[in-house]
Amino acid sequence: MEKKNIDWGNLTFSYQPTDYRFVANYKDGKWDEGELTTDSNIVLNECACVFQYAQECFEGLKAYTTEDGHIVAFRPDLNADRMYNSAERLEMPPYPKDKFLEAVDKVIMANEAWVPPFGSGASLYLRPYMFGSSPVIGVAPAEEYQFRILTTPVGPYFKSGIKPITIKVSDFDRAAPHGTGHIKAGLNYAMSLHAIITAHKEGFSENMYLDPATRTYVEETGGANFLFVTKDGTVVTPKSDSILPSVTRRSLMYIASEMLGMKTEERPVRFDEVKDFAECGLCGTAAVISPVGAINDHGNLIQFPSGMDEMGPVLKKLYDTITGIQQCKIEGPEGWVRVIK
Ligand SMILES: *Cc1c(COP(=O)(O)O)cnc(C)c1O
Repeated sequence: MEKKNIDWGNLTFSYQPTDYRFVANYKDGKWDEGELTTDSNIVLNECACVFQYAQECFEGLKAYTTEDGHIVAFRPDLNADRMYNSAERLEMPPYPKDKFLEAVDKVIMANEAWVPPFGSGASLYLRPYMFGSSPVIGVAPAEEYQFRILTTPVGPYFKSGIKPITIKVSDFDRAAPHGTGHIKAGLNYAMSLHAIITAHKEGFSENMYLDPATRTYVEETGGANFLFVTKDGTVVTPKSDSILPSVTRRSLMYIASEMLGMKTEERPVRFDEVKDFAECGLCGTAAVISPVGAINDHGNLIQFPSGMDEMGPVLKKLYDTITGIQQCKIEGPEGWVRVIK
């Protein structure tokens, strides 16, 4: 199999259609077998539920080439679980978890020529998603659904590499208590677009959202969970029912406590204690960990001791360990790496 002729080292995090995508349809109360298709377009009725009432959820995961030439995916079973939960919350028929994993394997193998080679820093990003496809005008769930997985080769998420970023405390809210913050749905992103554009215009890379009810606790950013490190080396992550359960964050917390012997805490984090932390980072599939050097709270700047030049030592250790596991250079916990080929 010949790889595509792509400048793998200079890929950005952007969409580039590949040869195949996986499509399955739900009709008359059941999912069909699904198939690979070369058609990157979707034709839907003008009144499809996804267009009118945003009935949609998605996932994101990466496939890599390891040093010894295998193609692997990182913990896709957790994406299958999470998408199952997202679908249930949106009154959609969940896509079966075993079928999800089969579809992941199929779509990666069909696009093997697009999986970036080892050492390029790039990966094949998989975007599973599903939506209500049948027409609905009175507010109700759709009767028919489509599940798809598209793939696209991507470089690192942040163009500036792993340089610390400056973020701001947002005046907008991301997810209401008892709302949909814990599921991965496009609707949570639609309402964050104005907030992120506002932050970018003001010169910040991301928004820190606080809990909408009291504005005293840290939640997350638009698309990544927070990790903090205390001055005595404890890794702390906020706990809240309206935070999206990041696979990266859960993996990093496990690595910290079970592999690196660090002290970890998952607990409510008050915003007024953030100034006392030694390190701060954002974690998610796209960027793995992006270090935060400073947080602007309405003109009052919180600067972390780790500074603006590089990732702090504890987060760096975590970053090196998780990326080592992903590339199969470090042996991770049983079942974390799914070998596709
Ligand atoms: C996807 C996502 C994350 C990161 O989750 P990963 O599973 O680590 O990629 C964090 N927050 C939000 C809101 C997300 O949608």
